Amino acid sequence: MKTEEKIVCNCCRKVIQDQNFPVRTEYLHVEKEWGYFSNKDGEKQEFDLCEACYDAWIRNFQIPVTSQEITELL
Ligand SMILES: [Zn+2]
Repeated sequence: MKTEEKIVCNCCRKVIQDQNFPVRTEYLHVEKEWGYFSNKDGEKQEFDLCEACYDAWIRNFQIPVTSQEITELL
């Protein structure tokens, strides 16, 4: 969840990023505009997940996420 000064994990309420304490942390941001073929037609949903909650989430997937080694690390 993003406010003006903070990004908070929707799942566990952990503060992922805080304007006042700039630490670079990776997190998942999802934005979805549901369309006509859904039950949420015209609804836009958004959430943010910290890495720990993301890991816990994908652990429940029946098919594991595809993953690739990235060689060009910045
Ligand atoms: Zn979390």
